[in-house]
Amino acid sequence: MELKNMDKIVNVCKARGFVFPGSEIYGGFANTWDFGPVGVELKNNIKRAWWKRFVQEDANTYGVDAAILMNPTVWKASGHVDSFGDPKMDCKNCKTRHRADTLIENHSKGTVSAEAMTNEEMEKYIEEHDVRCPVCGKRDFTPIRKFNPMFTTSRGTLEAEADTVYLRPETCQGEYVNFLNVQRTARAKVPFAIAQIGKSFRNEITPGNFLFRTIEFEQMELQKFCKAEDSMNFYEDYKVRAKQFVEDLGLKDEHLRFHDHDKLAHYAKAACDIQYLFPIGWQELNGIHHRGTWDLSRHQEFSGKSMLYLDPVTNEKFLPTVIEYSIGADRLTLALLCEAYDEETLEGGDTRVVMHLHSAIAPYKVAVLPLQKNLSDKAKEVFAILSKQFMCDYDEAGSIGKRYRREDEIGTPFCVTIDFDTLEDDTVTIRDRDTMQQIRLKISELCPYIQSKISF
Ligand code: ATP
Repeated sequence: MELKNMDKIVNVCKARGFVFPGSEIYGGFANTWDFGPVGVELKNNIKRAWWKRFVQEDANTYGVDAAILMNPTVWKASGHVDSFGDPKMDCKNCKTRHRADTLIENHSKGTVSAEAMTNEEMEKYIEEHDVRCPVCGKRDFTPIRKFNPMFTTSRGTLEAEADTVYLRPETCQGEYVNFLNVQRTARAKVPFAIAQIGKSFRNEITPGNFLFRTIEFEQMELQKFCKAEDSMNFYEDYKVRAKQFVEDLGLKDEHLRFHDHDKLAHYAKAACDIQYLFPIGWQELNGIHHRGTWDLSRHQEFSGKSMLYLDPVTNEKFLPTVIEYSIGADRLTLALLCEAYDEETLEGGDTRVVMHLHSAIAPYKVAVLPLQKNLSDKAKEVFAILSKQFMCDYDEAGSIGKRYRREDEIGTPFCVTIDFDTLEDDTVTIRDRDTMQQIRLKISELCPYIQSKISF
């Protein structure tokens, strides 16, 4: 399968206002990108489509928008303060460096997963099981040191009084801590889900590959709270729904695959990613994780507040099991741009670059183009009508051919051209981006026509 060229996609994105390098006039800032006028529309439309599918159309899913800065104990409970990042230890004897979790997993021949262990637990395991340096055979390690990818900042005005706080590395803790608030106020019954779209921050040191890996990114995710016995059904259900969603937005089935995790956390029954064939190869697009009762039990322990759910039918009290579905809005934007990008050879031998974006997520639904500048008054009237309902572009500069090309590159599904006949009979030409076919419609027919083509 031929992979698309990432450089070409990045170039169109920069040239047409989808995405610019972060802090560009200062030479940029690694792994940050700014969405431009066209890109912000695209990403907002993707977020809206996700929210519609998973929140609006699901009576048992409730949205939240939690604070990015949380009580630091949240990150102790979640394990991020102690266990997030790669746990490194050095062999004092032969001066080689190792990952503690890998030492344990290799020593146990894969039967023990260190994924959910704290540093102390790993050090204890290494000592008790006499895990030795694979290079020199000695057991003489430094304590574990971690590179923790959580960004920190401080709260308080005086340096001395400052408390360290964290920029959240994942959004889902906002749902866990609000589990009972949402349950009570929405009068929700298990099974139900809490969903959120918001920014997360990770001090990623690996290469970014454009929007694929950035140090701040948006996650669209939900946590389904259910009974343990129903959890695997919901897990399978979200796998299907997650794949269907991205396919409906335009990702082709042959560019998508499920990838089950090799290692599971001790509390997890199952975990899988959906991978997409990016220009950089098969990579994770989203994750679906069975999290057991781990998160709620940890918050119960660290907050001292009961997180138990009282079943109104059976009167049974229990901690619900959680199924998590999480997808990066920026990573999905990149996948959709990669899928949509196309170079077509036209009849006369010219090539056109076209973004075949699903019309529901296209930045502009329609562009209004007067054939000549002296038709601009009428064109502005048409823009005023259409822009009440749709995000519209207006362009009167340059040849009509060049304006069509520009709209093709930003994925505008329809171009409406105003010509001299429009002044006579209130009709316009509407051109389809993909087929380049044109039909003539009355101005009054435009809104229902476009509306009928852009639903998701
Ligand atoms: P990866 O293995 O790629 O680092 P992850 O397994 O750590 O991802 P999760 O913590 O499960 O990812 O986050 C859920 C989703 O958030 C990912 O599937 C991805 O779409 C997105 N995501 C995670 N990290 C980043 C990042 N640094 N930049 C952009 N999107 C990200």
